[in-house]
Amino acid sequence: MNAQISDQDIQKIIQSVLQNVESVLNSDAKAAQAPVKMKPASHTGQIASTVSQGENGVFARMEDAIEAGYSAQLAYMRQFELKGRERIISSIRQAAVNEKEQLARLVYEETGLGNVEDKISKHELAALQTPGTEILKTEAFSGDDGLTIVEEAPFGLIGAVTPVTNPTETIINNSIGMLAAGNAVVFNVHPSSKKSCAYAIILINKAIKAAGGPENLVTMVANPSLETMQTLIDSPKVRMLVGTGGPGLVKTLLKSGKKAVGAGAGNPPVIVDNTADLEHAAQSIITGASFDNNLLCIAEKEVFVLDSAADGLIFHMLNNGACMLDQHQLERVMEFALEANEKQESRGCSLDNKREYHVSKKWVGRSADQFMKELGIIPDSTVKLLICEVDFDHPFVQLEQMMPVLPIVRVNTLEEAIDFAVKAEHGNRHTAIMHSKNVDHLTQFAKAIETTIFVKNASSLAGVGFGGEGFTTMTIAGPTGEGITSAKTFTRQRRCVLAEGGFRIIG
Ligand code: NAD
Repeated sequence: MNAQISDQDIQKIIQSVLQNVESVLNSDAKAAQAPVKMKPASHTGQIASTVSQGENGVFARMEDAIEAGYSAQLAYMRQFELKGRERIISSIRQAAVNEKEQLARLVYEETGLGNVEDKISKHELAALQTPGTEILKTEAFSGDDGLTIVEEAPFGLIGAVTPVTNPTETIINNSIGMLAAGNAVVFNVHPSSKKSCAYAIILINKAIKAAGGPENLVTMVANPSLETMQTLIDSPKVRMLVGTGGPGLVKTLLKSGKKAVGAGAGNPPVIVDNTADLEHAAQSIITGASFDNNLLCIAEKEVFVLDSAADGLIFHMLNNGACMLDQHQLERVMEFALEANEKQESRGCSLDNKREYHVSKKWVGRSADQFMKELGIIPDSTVKLLICEVDFDHPFVQLEQMMPVLPIVRVNTLEEAIDFAVKAEHGNRHTAIMHSKNVDHLTQFAKAIETTIFVKNASSLAGVGFGGEGFTTMTIAGPTGEGITSAKTFTRQRRCVLAEGGFRIIG
């Protein structure tokens, strides 16, 4: 992933993004014409309050975002071979790395979820560890009857939907993978992250232009809604749909009649048995479960520990940044961080509408500090994660809570741990983690849970290349089976045949 453009060029891109955003902001005349208003972000006071038609990929109408992306993809395929694509991707990587702090702050200020430090790491990971064109491989068959190659060709224009939990990280990750495969992409982002996403789209378009690429390879609608998403789904110009989010989104995209890649929710269980290195297990669990305040879909969400190992695990967790809630404190957290599901709606990590509770959006992605303040505990900056001992049926075990509150369930046998873990995962087949030195135990759990990511003796983050081998993704397609998505996922297989050595011998 070598950089192909200079630091000076990158500075120019950044200046140019800010100037663009400011000029759009400051021009009253433009504002009068522009149909979409965006509130300024507080940390600079300079971010776009207005988006006019088609400024660097951000469009007021979904129809126009689609049309521009469609034309851009045709030009891209006409003008750019693999090397050219790679130059464009390098430019996007550098721009994203250079702006990682700014992007992290923007997302944090707009969504109020997670923390800036971990978001900086996520942006860097997406920018540098998302594979580019190198992952595309042509397959060849040769023999007496000639030569056949199978190429990985682009789909064309892709419609992508992004979550509020990794908004700009998913845009960077998806854009790199989709462009590497020769596609263009139109985003319908989560409405609560639209300002930071607009910033990322402008940044990416500037980077593409700086590398000589076409305008509007990556576009979005400034004010996304379920209606704009339907326009995206229905457009004949959009050939593939990619959705990262909860089960409702995946279900909607799968009903489209188009090729759809669905990256849905998880509720990752962790099993710790009595052969595990308990100190290492405790540290790894805390690292994964507290990262970005437990927002990640792969993050440890509930622990099943053998009774004989439980005290040791909890001891080491308490020594490594966890704080144990007592019964009264746990009840208080349930009062303020959960809501009764009075309307019997399906929400969260499963479409089951019989759940007694939902998580309160107000508390998703908040810090352990904020929970402690609400509980009247003197905040302690060394505490990253709250833990509690509960039974299997507890809502914190069953819900994908996305809060730094990790429930621990004691079990008597490995069989019971596996049974509980499989049930708590709700068939999402997303991510599971196990700490054990017994290979048979690891295999037994892996076979029973069948998740897309299975991490052994490390934090869940290792499953997306953060402290583990392998490339990264922000779109883990469990329901539709593509797994850790990359440029390869966004291609169509095309067979090209040269039969009989390419000519026919007559006579
Ligand atoms: P969400 O499902 O509420 O929203 C995701 C996107 O889908 C948003 O753009 C939203 O506007 C849209 N959307 C929501 N409900 C929809 C529906 N019924 N029909 C059509 N579109 C809909 O999710 P979120 O709160 O933004 O993100 C958190 C969820 O996403 C968690 O469940 C998490 O596990 C999951 N997630 C999965 C992955 C993965 O790679 N598998 C990655 C990140 C997040």
